[in-house]
Amino acid sequence: FDMFILAFVERLFRPTYRKDDFVLGKKLGEGAFGVVYRVSLAKKPSSKEGDLVLKKATEYGAVEIWMNERVRRACANSCADFLYGFLETSPKKGAEYWLLWRFEGEVTLSDLMLSKEFPYNVETMITGKVQDSPKGLERENRIIQTIMRQLLFALDGLHSTGIVHRDIKPQNIIFSEGSRTFKIIDLGAAADLRVGINYIPKEFLLDPRYAAPEQYIMSTQTPSAPSAPVATALSPVLWQMNLPDRFDIYSAGLIFLQMAFPALRTDSGLIQFNRQLKRCDYDLDAWRKSVEPRAGLELRRGFELLDLDGGIGWELLTSMVRYKARQRTSAKAALAHPYFDREGLLVLSFMQ
Ligand code: ADP
Ligand code: MG
Repeated sequence: FDMFILAFVERLFRPTYRKDDFVLGKKLGEGAFGVVYRVSLAKKPSSKEGDLVLKKATEYGAVEIWMNERVRRACANSCADFLYGFLETSPKKGAEYWLLWRFEGEVTLSDLMLSKEFPYNVETMITGKVQDSPKGLERENRIIQTIMRQLLFALDGLHSTGIVHRDIKPQNIIFSEGSRTFKIIDLGAAADLRVGINYIPKEFLLDPRYAAPEQYIMSTQTPSAPSAPVATALSPVLWQMNLPDRFDIYSAGLIFLQMAFPALRTDSGLIQFNRQLKRCDYDLDAWRKSVEPRAGLELRRGFELLDLDGGIGWELLTSMVRYKARQRTSAKAALAHPYFDREGLLVLSFMQ
């Protein structure tokens, strides 16, 4: 009950906005369910140009606002800084949900990964300067390890709050220039199982490139959760039974793989990998056996990176990308994996 009062008071004192308050800038994204713009405040010329992000969403925006409000109170550092969400209805456009965040930075992990400089471009962004130590596998591994730690840290925050993201991919991981860390964005497909909000419309397709084989996070025996906050008492049990958080772990594992193997960073490369893995019954070791004998230099280099320090990178990867959800590691357990024992990059910020 206290939580409700706190949330109410906090909400009361936070600034409120309406759509006329914003000047739209560059379009940052457009999906089937909304458009995202960089915006600035119309009546505050002092505010930095385009230091906010606004998403105009269809009816599913209601769920996204709910998720962002929850994250804001429970695990704020995991995701982009959410400021406000509101509904505007007009006879012409019907119901539109508007969501406002702080502008976190110019690039997503996807932008960074598609650059020839990866992972050194990330090292520069995290440490704040160009490092001049010799390039090589060890250094690349240390950068990738730091990215994975930040991603798993953010995921652990979400999962401990009871939220599964369901759309973890490099395009939904933004580099926050303020904290010099990666943060998760786009809670449009997320599920909050502790309060029974698990609404995915029929037409909503999970991204097949990053989706775990189970596709749907709850087994088909689970009655579809209502869209109102009820069933609180039941949900933790369902969570334990179905381990829906492991859906995100699979996606995060694929990102790990893409970081180690440049050929898998393109759409076609990833799609081809997914086909190969399926043919190997989702057994990464079997996949390795099938490709390693005829692997080119680049592929071999990826295995070499994961084999450093007695193969702990490969060990972590194979504990994330597994067919059965219950055999996959959790975000919390992954963070305690020996892969992370070694020192990562030093983040020059107050947060980490
Ligand atoms: P969708 O994928 O539904 O279009 P997203 O929420 O993923 O919407 O946002 C689209 C794009 O907008 C992201 O890929 C990112 O480039 C940018 N973006 C979203 N939120 C922020 C933010 N808080 N700061 C900076 N850029 C953002
Ligand atoms: Mg997105």
